Amino acid sequence: MTAIEGQVVAITGASSGIGEATARLLAERGAAVVLGARRTERLDHLARDIRDRGGRAIACATDVTRRGDLERLVGQAVAEFGRLDVLVGNAGIARIGPVSDLDVDGWDAMIDVNLRGVLYGIAAALPVFRQQGHGHLVTTVSTSGLKIVPTQAVYAATKNAVRTLLEGLRQESTDGVLRTTAISPGFVRTELTGSIDDAQVREEVRRNMDGFGIEPEAVARVVAFAIEQPRDVEIGEVTIRPTVQG
Ligand code: NDP
Repeated sequence: MTAIEGQVVAITGASSGIGEATARLLAERGAAVVLGARRTERLDHLARDIRDRGGRAIACATDVTRRGDLERLVGQAVAEFGRLDVLVGNAGIARIGPVSDLDVDGWDAMIDVNLRGVLYGIAAALPVFRQQGHGHLVTTVSTSGLKIVPTQAVYAATKNAVRTLLEGLRQESTDGVLRTTAISPGFVRTELTGSIDDAQVREEVRRNMDGFGIEPEAVARVVAFAIEQPRDVEIGEVTIRPTVQG
């Protein structure tokens, strides 16, 4: 028995990259996972694959920009597995580019997914956590918010907004019910470049990801580490990046 065995974990952005790797690792270690994202074929395939390996998984179509979808994701976890121990708010997009390009639609999209999506998850999960007497919010933020670089200003701003949000929530929640964890990865080899419209910026990020990005499983292991701790231990912030990343 590991401390992960038997936990019920909902994950947004579970259809690829870090979310998918996290779902696979936690399910392997005995968690029941509830998979949220928009690409339902991917989620169904992943859920089936986990179940074929003896794990417990269900898929739930989720667009994190819709508050009701997060309520349904949390509701599905409770209906199917009896409770929700952890919400991993991982869904994210990176429509990065210079601020001077004035890609206002891209800014809106990043705010909607990266910030509003996490807030909607919190709104859906907190009442359940309070009623159960325990719960854990894990979010995927970014080293982009720690070392600010050109083309990533708005993306970094959304990630730092989440970092701030979690710290504030942590300070409001010292009654022992809620744990919060913000994980800041550096370059990770995933499909995240798919959300970059600017071809030149996309190429550059892709080159870095393919050249020295770490595998999403490395971030999944950090999620596992955070949630396997005893309930009186909170892993607040973790930075994980390729050893060679500047
Ligand atoms: P991927 O593109 O592989 O995964 C992103 C996930 O987010 C997908 O599952 C996608 O699913 C989901 N998603 C996007 N928009 C929505 C939406 N509106 N509703 C629900 N789900 C959505 O990239 P990563 O695995 O890299 O990204 C995961 C997180 O890690 C993101 O928050 C990203 O910002 C962060 N991160 C990534 C880094 C990297 O180098 N890769 C570095 C630092 C942080 P679907 O399209 O099916 O909805």
